[in-house]
Amino acid sequence: MGEDRRVLLSEKVLDHGFVELIDVLGSDQDIVNAARTSYDKGTKEVSSTKQLIRYLIRHKHSGPLEFGELVFRIRCPIFVARQWFRHRMASYNEVSLRYSEVVEEFYVPRSEWITGQDRRNRQARTDHEIEKSEEISSKLKQDAENLLKEYHNYIEKGVAREIARINLPLSIYTSFVFKIDLRNLLNFLSLRTDPHAQFEIRQYANIMAKMSEKFFPIVIEAWRDYIRNSISFSSAELHVLKNIFEDKLEIIKEVENFLQINQKILPLAKLEHLELIDKLRKLMGFDTTLDYLGKEKK
Ligand SMILES: Cc1cc2nc3c(=O)[nH]c(=O)nc-3n(C[C@H](O)[C@H](O)[C@H](O)COP(=O)(O)OP(=O)(O)OC[C@H]3O[C@@H](n4cnc5c(N)ncnc54)[C@H](O)[C@@H]3O)c2cc1C
Repeated sequence: MGEDRRVLLSEKVLDHGFVELIDVLGSDQDIVNAARTSYDKGTKEVSSTKQLIRYLIRHKHSGPLEFGELVFRIRCPIFVARQWFRHRMASYNEVSLRYSEVVEEFYVPRSEWITGQDRRNRQARTDHEIEKSEEISSKLKQDAENLLKEYHNYIEKGVAREIARINLPLSIYTSFVFKIDLRNLLNFLSLRTDPHAQFEIRQYANIMAKMSEKFFPIVIEAWRDYIRNSISFSSAELHVLKNIFEDKLEIIKEVENFLQINQKILPLAKLEHLELIDKLRKLMGFDTTLDYLGKEKK
């Protein structure tokens, strides 16, 4: 790559990978400015930047988030890139192995990352290091080295790069640039920081969340609070809970009291107190008391 590379933030990942944040458009304030155009002069209430962003994310009003954009340069193993490229709402440009020769780097998992197949989740691995993991790690390295050697043999024999590469392993590193708006980045981060995502792509996503937080601190904090670290219930699960909690109205009273006593020290906005009570009411089979704007129904 040339000398004119601009890098705002950079961090190494796995053995030879990196995440570089190379460009950012917008800020928390720009998201709020975009959101405020929707009510123009129609309301006198102007909530703070933080309150409004938290409201938008809590209620999935994600359009204004498209007014933030980030560009990353990524270096990761090909098997990670394959998962990454399923995220279609982004722009990519990747190094071409038809055009350039392979860089001599491939991913070898540390022995403690070589764990067994999860029996419950057929797509996952367990946390338990497998027996002889060090031996397996060296074997993985040796296999990749052999395949790279063959690759160079083909190139020396005059075989075109686009053919010479076809037996290369998925562990070979690739590089690409990735431009994504904040709305779709949050979707990417939600899916790829989740424990269900493969360990290797999670390492990248966690770093990207930290980097994004430097430029959009309120958005990322709200994403953590309302999406990443929250849970939701299906209607079947709610049905079960409803049966258990039905007629236990005193719980609502208890929560209301708790909120009132502790309102100054709780990390909940006032509207969220009402929303929490509403969720509990829903859990117990009552109608919700808030309208679609989050105001108490008259
Ligand atoms: C743990 C895990 C396991 C996975 N396993 C597999 C697997 O085994 N096989 C496999 O093929 N994929 C797999 N995937 C990929 C997954 O199915 C998604 O393709 C990927 O996560 C991208 O998510 P997305 O569609 O939300 O993102 P994006 O493609 O970036 O899309 C963002 C949003 O835009 C909208 N959108 C995008 N494209 C369309 C469209 N064509 N029509 C309508 N709306 C659209 C949707 O709202 C979408 O959520 C897996 C993903 C994860 C996280």
